[in-house]
Amino acid sequence: MSYNSRLSDYIQRRGFLLRVGLITGGIFLNGCYKRLKAKSYDIPGKLSGPNEKAGHLLRDKISFPKPLEHSKVKILIIGSGISGLSAGRWLKQSGETDFEILELEAHKGGNAHSGKNKDAAYPLGAHYVTVANNEDEVLMDFFKEINVITHMEKGLPYYNEFYLTFDPEERLLINGEWQEGLVPEFGVPELEKTQIKRFLAEVEELRLKKGADGKFVFNVPVSESSSDKSYLKLDLMSFKDYLDKKGFTSKYLLWYLNYACKDDYGRKISDVSAWAGLHYFASRRGLAANAERNAVLTWPQGNGWLMEQLADPLDKYIRTSSMCYQLGYTDNGKVLALVYDVNTQQNRTIEAEKVILCAPQYVNNRLLRGIKRPGVDYKELQYAPWLVANIKVSALSGGRGMGLCWDNVAYDTPSVGYVNSGQQRLNTAEDGHTLTYYLPLCDFEPAVARLAAYSRSYEQWLDIIMPELEYIHPGLTKVITNIDLWVWGHGMISPSVDLIWGDNLQQARKAIDQKIFFAHSDLSGISIFEEAFHQGIRAAKEVLKNNG
Ligand SMILES: Cc1cc2nc3c(=O)[nH]c(=O)nc-3n(C[C@H](O)[C@H](O)[C@H](O)COP(=O)(O)OP(=O)(O)OC[C@H]3O[C@@H](n4cnc5c(N)ncnc54)[C@H](O)[C@@H]3O)c2cc1C
Repeated sequence: MSYNSRLSDYIQRRGFLLRVGLITGGIFLNGCYKRLKAKSYDIPGKLSGPNEKAGHLLRDKISFPKPLEHSKVKILIIGSGISGLSAGRWLKQSGETDFEILELEAHKGGNAHSGKNKDAAYPLGAHYVTVANNEDEVLMDFFKEINVITHMEKGLPYYNEFYLTFDPEERLLINGEWQEGLVPEFGVPELEKTQIKRFLAEVEELRLKKGADGKFVFNVPVSESSSDKSYLKLDLMSFKDYLDKKGFTSKYLLWYLNYACKDDYGRKISDVSAWAGLHYFASRRGLAANAERNAVLTWPQGNGWLMEQLADPLDKYIRTSSMCYQLGYTDNGKVLALVYDVNTQQNRTIEAEKVILCAPQYVNNRLLRGIKRPGVDYKELQYAPWLVANIKVSALSGGRGMGLCWDNVAYDTPSVGYVNSGQQRLNTAEDGHTLTYYLPLCDFEPAVARLAAYSRSYEQWLDIIMPELEYIHPGLTKVITNIDLWVWGHGMISPSVDLIWGDNLQQARKAIDQKIFFAHSDLSGISIFEEAFHQGIRAAKEVLKNNG
């Protein structure tokens, strides 16, 4: 029985009320909102996410206490995600030390944040990068600086063996068996295999294609891609329409492409542009002396490790629990940031010559109340919500076929699978495993899915994820000792039709009055480490160019 038919049986059993509850976490009955009672799983754990209180403070127009302190700094960076840290690193390495980085959370790193249990660290968001495209010298320099690239051999980077994903890398549960690799093969009819091969051959060709301007059609960062109009038009149709036009109908292929879009964008093929869908497959050309093309780099705490490499040298510049809630100008033309200390609940002001806003645009919309940003339509920017579950198990049942890998995906299930966060651990003393399970909440429009996600209790989340986990590993419930749930309400920017190459993002990247600059991965339209890293550098360079 497939996962989906089992799930529908399950849903029928839980009845109509719970079905609505799966969507909203509660329902309106006689005008009253009632939380739905979930099936009780006796599993200890907790539900967390980015600082909700700070989010409310930003959203609701509450009055903040009178500022008690006033300070001055030359450059103020707002946000210590990868983009903010990358901007800080660039400033510091360029000799600029008069800057400060504000972060509203008690921790640094934004979506690259990680957690830990008594045994080990695990990712709570971003968990891997691929080896750099060889022409991306700036990223390669960073990788050399932090010993991810140890040396060059015959002109190719030699990657640190401890950070290249340890084998075995990927497996897919399909037609009752774990097969190696994620491209569907086991039990797939020949006709469908032919379509899969055709698609892979087409993207392979696109991978090496250059536009009329001599640039690769698809590149990382996105800004290095060709702006040849004959390819940019791919941004004006959905990936699904593109695949329909090309006659790709195989259910296995379409599942695989949906999986890929969910994995990188938190959305389905119908919700992202064809340019974005193809970018996933055709933008990577990284060659290494000691690894396969496009090999994966990862750490037990995921990209939390990369984040620490950026953050540690900047420690004295970073102020955590410091939320900027409004930007304005002083009478003498400086930028004035109003900052709330989430811990002490005190308010202060910071006067800066220049600000680099490394928060997502939906936050910037609130900070810039009263400051015009011509041509920027915030409503057009959608952010995909995610649930990440770190599941501690004392043992893991085998199943048929390939054994446990770093990345473990099940065909035709709601999630994009789980990674074995202990894969890169040298110390094998961990009792059991910690599985980091990723569920993109993409069955509804992001705003609806987000609202529902925020309203769910820990128990209600278990009601959603446990049937899938039990399907993947029958009997798993009994061996789970703890679950750490994390909800990302605005996890990733959605590269919808006409976003990446449209006017909106182009305008959003523009500085205001050469005083307020912008850097965040959402400005690329694709939320990955490399984009955040390059956005930070671009903005830092703009600031330095305008340094008065
Ligand atoms: C579930 C999930 C899985 C992911 N997996 C991967 C992956 O495997 N590989 C990958 O490359 N990418 C992954 N990503 C994408 C990830 O978002 C990017 O790689 C990158 O970390 C984004 O960095 P950023 O700086 O652009 O944004 P953010 O991480 O959003 O950083 C913005 C920062 O600004 C802070 N901030 C916001 N408002 C304020 C304010 N008013 N005052 C002060 N501070 C503020 C926030 O708290 C945050 O720290 C994943 C994302 C999610 C949600």
